[in-house]
Amino acid sequence: KVKRDKMTILVLGLNNSGKSTIINHFKKSNEQSAIMVPTVGFLIEQFYSKYFVNNKYNTNNSYFSDMGVCIKAIDMSGATRYRNLWEHQFKNCQGIIYVIDSSDRMRFVVVKDELDLVLQHPDLSNRILPILFYGNKSDLEDSLSNVKIAAALGLENIKEKPWHICSSNAVSGEGLDEGIQWLVQQIR
Ligand code: GDP
Repeated sequence: KVKRDKMTILVLGLNNSGKSTIINHFKKSNEQSAIMVPTVGFLIEQFYSKYFVNNKYNTNNSYFSDMGVCIKAIDMSGATRYRNLWEHQFKNCQGIIYVIDSSDRMRFVVVKDELDLVLQHPDLSNRILPILFYGNKSDLEDSLSNVKIAAALGLENIKEKPWHICSSNAVSGEGLDEGIQWLVQQIR
């Protein structure tokens, strides 16, 4: 049985990229045991950096199952001042899900800057830790393909970490399971 503080996946992304929707999908799957991988279940905790503002660390939104991976969502946008409050999560995480709104072309530069900061962080830069990218909102007409997202973010420069990009529609759930299966396989 995996200890929950031993297995943490962080869900990172700007606001409105789809993190809550993705988390909710995995919560539901967990309850239905649909996506449960033997021996590695999903333990989900949801919190946002905005909760730090009033309340240091508000866990009211938390959801725990008995075993498995703890999934924590962190909203990166507008949280520069609170960075150090969530960056300490990097030390104990085993994988990262980076959620991108593939239709939000205006903010691709921000998405890349944030990603670079994450990759360069001292608690992550020297670790072999898998990163799953969701090119989310792939259902929207002006969404960019995975190839274009990868080029825009310079993913080919990530040499020392296994990474994978997956198109997703978090509303319908399309692509989410495929992505998480990859991630779990990398961690096991
Ligand atoms: P968060 O701020 O990153 O947690 O983003 P949310 O999960 O709250 O999603 C922001 C908005 O985008 C909501 O209105 C969602 O319903 C919508 N959304 C999330 N994922 C998708 C998707 O794949 N396709 C479409 N069309 N809308 C999505």
